[in-house]
Formats: sequence, structure tokens, C-alpha cells
Amino acid sequence: MEIPMKILVTNDDGVQAPGLLALAQAMRKLGDVTVLAPDRNWSASGHVKTMERPLRVRETRLADGSAAYTSDGAPSDCVALAVLGVLDETYDLVVSGINPNANIGHDVTYSGTVTAAMEAVICGVPGIAVSLNSLPEHGELDYAPAACAALRVAKQVAARRLPEGVFLNINVPCLPENEFKGYMITRQGLRVYRDALVRRNDPRNRPYYWIGGDFPTGIPEDGTDVGALAAGYVSLTPLQLDLTARSALETLKTWEF
Ligand code: MN
Repeated sequence: MEIPMKILVTNDDGVQAPGLLALAQAMRKLGDVTVLAPDRNWSASGHVKTMERPLRVRETRLADGSAAYTSDGAPSDCVALAVLGVLDETYDLVVSGINPNANIGHDVTYSGTVTAAMEAVICGVPGIAVSLNSLPEHGELDYAPAACAALRVAKQVAARRLPEGVFLNINVPCLPENEFKGYMITRQGLRVYRDALVRRNDPRNRPYYWIGGDFPTGIPEDGTDVGALAAGYVSLTPLQLDLTARSALETLKTWEF
């Protein structure tokens, strides 16, 4: 008998987020699912390794009554803890999400959802990040179409294996599944951030600051994650941790020090 795949499911929105429940339920169709996710929202926390304080792991339950684990660490801490054996298990795949908002272009460096998949690849386990491209006007979200897309992709990862050092960043349009145009392999596009400084005074009249502004947009160029979502496709971007700007190497070698 074939040994079932062991899948770790995590997220950056907290263990009780509805996107995580939808993802865990979908992944149970592919293998044995363990959930270890943060006990609070770590969205836009980047790639974290907690080193200056102890981490705790405790049992909890998802809204469907299934057993899960939660930690006071970041999403990447959750992956590291799990892969290092905190639950005395090993994993064949790490899937992170489903984040309610897209993680496209430069978002990947901020995203806790994506950095959980980054941590997986560092640990030598295939990683997939899944995000839904919802906008503020979408209201209550249906994660089922994105969960189906995640399952389709995870099945391919299980059957074909990812290249060494590569993890997948999936972004799903906020549409019913039968309205997806298809699945498109993309590169990172350009986000347009519209951040603005919000400066206010606290009750003791000391200034405090908030990085506010409008929801980001993007340049919907063909072949990019931004373009795929704009055209109604599920976007699959293969990412790697090597951020070297190869095109700059030769120029910099002409500098004199
Ligand atoms: Mn999030």
C-alpha cells in the first residue's frame, strides 16, 4: 500500500482564518494534513526567524472540529518548528494560505504566506504559497475555488517534483472555478504601492505614525502574475531564494576598489 503524503498546512493570517480551513480541507484529499499556524495575524511580516524569545506550541481546533496546532511564532517559524520535528513528524509538502489578498510582484518579500513556502525550501521540503486576489469591495470571500486550484497544483507538485530550490507562488482570481480562464505560468510583475504616511497624536499628545494609503494596484503586463490575474487566470510563479541581480554582475566587476 502506498504511504500517504504528509502535508503541513500553515498561513500568515492566524490559525482560525477561514482561508486556512479551506486549504486544509482541500489538502486532505491528497494526503495526511497537519496544521501548525500562528496564533495571530502575521500578514506582511516578511521572512522571520525568532531567536530572542522562546516559542510555544499548543493544540487547538479548527472550525470544522479537526485537530490543529498553533504557535506564537511567525509563519516561517511554524514551518521551521514543524520540519525540525516539534510534532515528531516529517513532511513531503508545505502549503501556506489561503491568503485573502494577492501576493504578486514585490509583495513576495513582505508576505508571511510566501515566506512560509520560502522556509520550506530552505528546509528541503517542496513549498507552495496560495493567495486569493480579493479586493476591498469583494466582501465575504469564498475560498473554495482557490482551494480547488491549490489541490490541482499540489497534485502536480506531488507527481512531478519541483526543481531544486524552487517553490511555487500561486495567486487565484476571485471568481467561481468555472470562470477561471486557465492556469498560467508567470514571472513576477510590478506592484504599484500607494503608501502614504499617516501622522496622528496620541492622548498624551505624542506623535505616532501609520503606513497607510490606498490598496496597491499593479501593471498588468503579459506573462506576469499581475497580468494573469487581470485576465482571469490562476497565476503560478516559480520563485527561488537567490536574489542575485545577474545582469549587474559584469558591470560591478568593472568598478575599481
Ligand atoms: Mn495574510
